[in-house]
Amino acid sequence: MKNCIDLHTHTLASDGTDTPTELVDLAVAAELAAIAVTDHDTVAGLAEAEAAGRAQGLEVIRGCELSVQSSCGELHLLGLWLPHDVAGLEQALALSRARRNVRNQVILEKLGRLGMPIAYDAVCEEAGGEVIGRPHIAQVMVQQGYVPHVRAAFDGYLRAGAAAYVPKEVIAAAEGAALLAGLGATVSLAHPMLVRAPRAELETVIAALRTHGLDALEAFHAEHSQGDEQYIKALAGRLGLGISGGSDYHGRTKPSVRLGSGRGGMRVGTAVLDALKERRVKAGLPV
Ligand code: AMP
Ligand code: ZN
Ligand code: FE
Ligand code: FE
Repeated sequence: MKNCIDLHTHTLASDGTDTPTELVDLAVAAELAAIAVTDHDTVAGLAEAEAAGRAQGLEVIRGCELSVQSSCGELHLLGLWLPHDVAGLEQALALSRARRNVRNQVILEKLGRLGMPIAYDAVCEEAGGEVIGRPHIAQVMVQQGYVPHVRAAFDGYLRAGAAAYVPKEVIAAAEGAALLAGLGATVSLAHPMLVRAPRAELETVIAALRTHGLDALEAFHAEHSQGDEQYIKALAGRLGLGISGGSDYHGRTKPSVRLGSGRGGMRVGTAVLDALKERRVKAGLPV
């Protein structure tokens, strides 16, 4: 009996390292009942993932992960059950991708000044797809022998506040939530416990986003403790929001995170998916 799911995954279309087909193969091998493909700032991997899912009998939910700005800093919104026609979203995604390129070049300038020259072409080649981010820069840093592994690249240079960090310019959280909700997607706040803000402030931001279409909180995540999980579930209950969950699988970029189970024993049961679908049905949205 397949009783687990993973509603937060990345492919080569953004900063994961598996093709959409490879991701689906892995999910089938892990005996998952469903996955959502949620690449950053692109829907380019969805058609291949859906086709592979149909061929293999795996439910594939069309999604994406959008970075947005709030008074608590950068937040990530998952749009789940995206429609096939995302014309209303494509412009915002294209803008985000263009802004990434500007910011990535500034990161490379900083790395150059730190004695680690890297050509942007090498980063683009590493990325393969149209969404280029810090994990790709980190991988090139490893290849060029500047750091031993991706984690060291982030810890030493690329994490927020480190010497080569440059923030992304992103759209406002309310705008992002409204955009996704307007398309009929279920909007879930990804990894809320990774937001570096006091709980009271986070709760205020979440409550405000509800009025712009936020419908769920990602309670289960590879980097959430069981205490985090309980807190987010209770918060969702208090605010009338649903809950979602996923590993945030990226393949080799984050070798400690496995599809469907995150780092420790995290598992997301099919009941989570059923409850999200029930909320959609009640709202008159397709599942
Ligand atoms: P960006 O979108 O370019 O700001 O890069 C953010 C991405 O980097 C996210 O997908 C994170 O999962 C990934 N990331 C953040 N910190 C780390 C880390 N320490 N090791 C590996 N990947 C990370
Ligand atoms: Zn990522
Ligand atoms: Fe994220
Ligand atoms: Fe993610």
